[in-house]
Amino acid sequence: MLKDLFTKPKKKKYAAIPSEAAKQDVPEGIMTKCPECKKIMYTKDLQKNLKVCLHCGHHLRMTAYERVESLIDEGTFQVLEDRISSENPLGFPGYLEKLEKDKKNTKLEEAVLTGTGAINGMNIVIAIMDSHFRMGSMGSVVGEKIARAIETAAKLEVPFLIFTASGGARMQEGVLSLMQMAKTSAALKMFSEKGGLIISFMTHPTTGGVSASFASLGDYNFAEPGALIGFAGRRVIEQTIREELPDDFQTAEFLLDHGQLDAVIHRLEIKEKLTTVLEIHQQEGELTW
Ligand SMILES: [Zn+2]
Repeated sequence: MLKDLFTKPKKKKYAAIPSEAAKQDVPEGIMTKCPECKKIMYTKDLQKNLKVCLHCGHHLRMTAYERVESLIDEGTFQVLEDRISSENPLGFPGYLEKLEKDKKNTKLEEAVLTGTGAINGMNIVIAIMDSHFRMGSMGSVVGEKIARAIETAAKLEVPFLIFTASGGARMQEGVLSLMQMAKTSAALKMFSEKGGLIISFMTHPTTGGVSASFASLGDYNFAEPGALIGFAGRRVIEQTIREELPDDFQTAEFLLDHGQLDAVIHRLEIKEKLTTVLEIHQQEGELTW
């Protein structure tokens, strides 16, 4: 708060940056280079715009905690502490060390953060995947945390909201990762049968076993613009069907055009749109949660 007193918003300073600077390494922290249009901007301005590029509108990756801050009413978020962590069931070399490193870097226990909170006063349980942790891959702990979050939503009788970002199943845990697809899907089915409302929000990238399980099982399936969403990679599909795929194949926009999504929603409008959806279901009596 105090810091804010000393920082005046610096407007339209982007043009003043010499073009050579763009080619050089961007100073760590202060400036950020858009991976899409390659223009650089003040990190602070980018953060204020919820990490949507000020020049081209590209949606940069968010951390789970940034997502919480952008969506959940201040002071309402409570982490669901599961106190579970991955073992190394296959004895995969270096796996536990990599987990430790990601825990330190992301301040997360795993590739998903789960918690309770409110969106404009309406209580929800939320699970947010973070691609900064092992590419958001789904191992046994990710699956278990998501299943437990769904069960908490059922117990509290509130909607379940999930933001996905994942490279797919976690190869270091082999078939135990794939099992999570069935476990999370079963938990959602039980939740749904009790009348629970499921909202899935796919962010870049949502692929593999995550896209083929809980990410696609929402009563509402939304996505952010430009998000890559798909099961197998482009090359694998092209080699299998021996056909060239369209350029926009597996983008959120392509999926929307082909009936696989309910809406593509700009990040700056997500909270407002989610509020509308939650309000509609609050009014319907039967679907109060
Ligand atoms: Zn850009």
